[in-house]
This record gives sequence, C-alpha cells and structure tokens, in this order.
Amino acid sequence: ARQFFVGGNFKLNPATLSAKDSLIDSLNKADLDPSAEVVIAPPALYLLPVLSSVRKDIKVAAQNCYFKESGAFTGEISPKQLVDAGIPYVILGHSERRTLFHETSALVATKTRAAIDAGLKVILCIGETLEQREAGKTAEVCEEQLKAVVDVTKDADWSKIVIAYEPVWAIGTGKVATSAQAQQAHADVRAYLAKVVSPAVANSVQILYGGSVTAANCKELATQQDVDGFLVGGASLKPEFADIINARK
Ligand code: 13P
Repeated sequence: ARQFFVGGNFKLNPATLSAKDSLIDSLNKADLDPSAEVVIAPPALYLLPVLSSVRKDIKVAAQNCYFKESGAFTGEISPKQLVDAGIPYVILGHSERRTLFHETSALVATKTRAAIDAGLKVILCIGETLEQREAGKTAEVCEEQLKAVVDVTKDADWSKIVIAYEPVWAIGTGKVATSAQAQQAHADVRAYLAKVVSPAVANSVQILYGGSVTAANCKELATQQDVDGFLVGGASLKPEFADIINARK
C-alpha cells in the first residue's frame, strides 16, 4: 500500500521570522497521525531555521531549485546545496512557477532529473487550467507535463518522485475538485505511467491532490483509491493543517 503523504506548501508565507516561529511551534505541538508522511515547504530563506526547529517526524522541502550545481546563476539554489544542507525534498513544476515564472515542462523535467541525480526527492506538480478542463483536455495536459519528465527519467529511481495533481482552477480559489474529478485524474495519471514507465512504478508512485484542500473536504477526497495524500497551500498555514494530516486517522 502507498503511504499517505501530506505536504504543506507555504508559498511566499509567512511574512516574518516570528510568524514562522509560531507556525512551527503549533505544528510541533499538534497531534499527528504517525503513519502519514508529512513534508513542509517554507520559503528558501526559512529552510534552515525550520529544519533545525521543526519536529523530526516532519520533513522539509524547498519550493524550487535550479538544475546547475553552482556557478553564475544569480538568485538560484542548487540541488546539491539543498542536499548538503540536509533538505530532502524539493517541489518542482508548481503551477505558479509555470505561469508566473514561465517555467516550461522541459525546464521542469531538466530540474527534476538534476534534483534526483543530486539525491533529492521531488514533489512534481502537474495540472490543467479551467479552459483546458472545459475543452476536455485534462488527461492530455497532465500527460504532456509528465511526458517531458518521463523522457529524461526513464532510468531514474521513481521512488524519488511524488506527483501532485493540482488543477490550476482549484489552487487558491476555494473551488476544490470533487472527489470523482480528483480520482479520475489520478487514475488517468497512473494509467499513463503504467504505459510509459512501468506498471510497478504506476502502482507505487504516490499521487497527491492539491487545490483548495481544507479540513472540511479532505476526508472524502482521502477515501479515493488513487488519492494518496495532499499538497496543501493556504490551509497549511492554519491549525487545520493538522486535521488534513489526520484525514485518514
Ligand atoms: P491552496 O491549497 O491554497 O489552494 O494551494 C494549493 C497549492 O498550490 C499547493 O501547492
């Protein structure tokens, strides 16, 4: 069985070191399902203080990284630096990176390969816009985004990849996917991976749902066969994050 996995993507939050401290304090005190894998992704500036202050059963992820090891790449962080600093995970391909920062599927794929090769685990985000969903292109868009990664990672260790299906229309909008919509997209992703990578990888890869997940809607989503957890944005900054982690408890 695939382990239940809950990620908290803090995005560009919170705004101060002291607010970051309160957030970590409350997580450290929370009663969390020990069978869930929990990963939090604070802004880069807070990675090391969070790593040293958060409880050891919560792992830490970067929200992005570059594909080069070092050099003249102003503003970037390398996979090697993350590994050296003790950060085990990186989120790549988030829709905000793709849209606001113009990251293409090819760039996301290059980064994914570099991150895995450096020894990171990758939370790889994919998902369609509302326009694409309404045009019936959800599976096609997810496959296109995955294909770029599959093309460069066929021989890589897929146990290092967690997929986050995050429909763009559900991110930060309060419009959560129905459990049927999430289940369908996750099953399609798994079927695609069975075809282009292997049935074993398709069966073992964790597929998270992300987009307006809350304490109120997580339990039903978590009952879906192909929903292996969540990638949580806004609600990961609130006490209800603990309830989402405990969705299957
Ligand atoms: P929200 O939970 O705020 O909709 O964000 C989801 C997300 O983008 C997680 O990566």
